[in-house]
Amino acid sequence: MEYYSKQISKLIESFASLPGIGTKTATRLAFHVIHMPKEEVDTFANNLTSARENVKFCKECYTLTDSELCPICADANRDHSTIMVVENTKDLAAYEKTGKYTGVYHVLHGAISPMLGIGPEDIKLKELIKRLEGDIKEVIIATNSSLEGETTAMYISKLIKPIGVKVSRIASGVPVGGDLEYIDEVTLMRALEGRTEL
Ligand code: ZN
Repeated sequence: MEYYSKQISKLIESFASLPGIGTKTATRLAFHVIHMPKEEVDTFANNLTSARENVKFCKECYTLTDSELCPICADANRDHSTIMVVENTKDLAAYEKTGKYTGVYHVLHGAISPMLGIGPEDIKLKELIKRLEGDIKEVIIATNSSLEGETTAMYISKLIKPIGVKVSRIASGVPVGGDLEYIDEVTLMRALEGRTEL
């Protein structure tokens, strides 16, 4: 990378540090930014820092939001006694897009993976159990159908059952190993409607 000036190299390195961006793409992006109008670059940079500074966990469901409570948890018309457990905020968004789910969510921010050394204490599981002290009728486990997602689902159901709250798992209409965010809305709705009690 010594062919470029230090500033350009640093910018390329920054882009290349992002997931899915190789050196070639990083270089293209860096040169694109250098040729952008200064105001546009300022807005872009500002969006980065501002999102990083102001986006936080919803204190109820732990999704990423910019207020204390996310709009879903703050909505009195949602059914707060049904909690759908998802792996991340993108999965939550996928279910929200169907427009059919009226309950609330719990975002784990990951899944249990012994292989990657991710244990139950590394995801927002304690926080879920704490929520069950309230008036909760059902917990719907909507983790991905990957090995990690299934392991997590099994772990959660074992943890919740003794508490006496109904636990269900979304139907396996979702392809194995399929990331929830890439699955179409109809399939998601079918998976939700066809859920089975664990
Ligand atoms: Zn929330």
